[in-house]
Amino acid sequence: MDNIKALATDIQNAQSIVAFTGAGISAESGIPTYRGEGGLWTKYDPSKYASISYFLQNPSYYWNFFKDVRYPILKKVKPNKAHLALFEIENAGNLKTVITQNIDGLHQEAGSSSVIELHGTTRTIICMDCSRKYTIGEAFTKLERQIPPLCTKCSGILRPDVVFFGEMLDPEILRDAYAAAASCDFLLAVGSSLVVYPAADIPLRAKQAGAKLAIINIDSTPLDSVADYVINDAAGKVLPLIT
Ligand SMILES: [Zn+2]
Repeated sequence: MDNIKALATDIQNAQSIVAFTGAGISAESGIPTYRGEGGLWTKYDPSKYASISYFLQNPSYYWNFFKDVRYPILKKVKPNKAHLALFEIENAGNLKTVITQNIDGLHQEAGSSSVIELHGTTRTIICMDCSRKYTIGEAFTKLERQIPPLCTKCSGILRPDVVFFGEMLDPEILRDAYAAAASCDFLLAVGSSLVVYPAADIPLRAKQAGAKLAIINIDSTPLDSVADYVINDAAGKVLPLIT
C-alpha cells in the first residue's frame, strides 16, 4: 500500500505521462486473450484467423470468426475502471498519450484523446484494393449477406485495419510511439507482459531517456528489474487508487 501511495504522488507530480497498455487491461473488460477458454472462441484457431498468409488464402475463415466471436464481444464490452482511470489522469492534465497493443478501441471509448494503436484497430474495416474505410457495423451488415464482405465501390475484399501476424507494424506509428516514450517523464505500463518486441521496447526507451517507470501487471515481466514501481495486481484495482 505504501508503494501505491508513493506511485500516486509521483503520478500527480508528473507533467507528461505516457501509458503503455496491453491485453491485460482488455481482459478485465471481458475480451479473452488468444488462448481464451470455452465456447465459440476455441472453435477458431488463432494461428489461422490472426495470420496474414492465411487471410490472403482464405479470408472467409477470418470473417466467420469475426461474425461468430469478435463482433458479438466488441458490441458487448465496455471500458473498465482502468481505462476510465487513465482518462481521469489525462483530464487532470498529467497524461499526454496512451500507446496500446490492443485493437478494441476501448481507450477511445473511455475518453482518451491521444491513442497510438500499435496493432491497428478492429473497429475500422478497409478495402484491400481501393482503401475505402467502413465501420464494423457496416461490415457486419455486409457479412449477413456475404462472406467475405466486399467493397461497395470496387468489389475488393475487405480486411480489418489491424496488423496481422506476419505483417510489419506501421513504421510511422512506431516512430510516433518511440517519440512519445522518449519525451515523457513517467511511463505507466499496464497489463502487458512486455515480451513482444518491438512494442516492449517502448517502456525501456522511456526509462533510458530518464523517465520513471511503473509496471502494473498480474505477472512479472522482463523489465521489472529496471522499473521504479512494480505492482502485480489487476489494473482495474490499482489505477483507481493512483488517480
Ligand atoms: Zn474498394
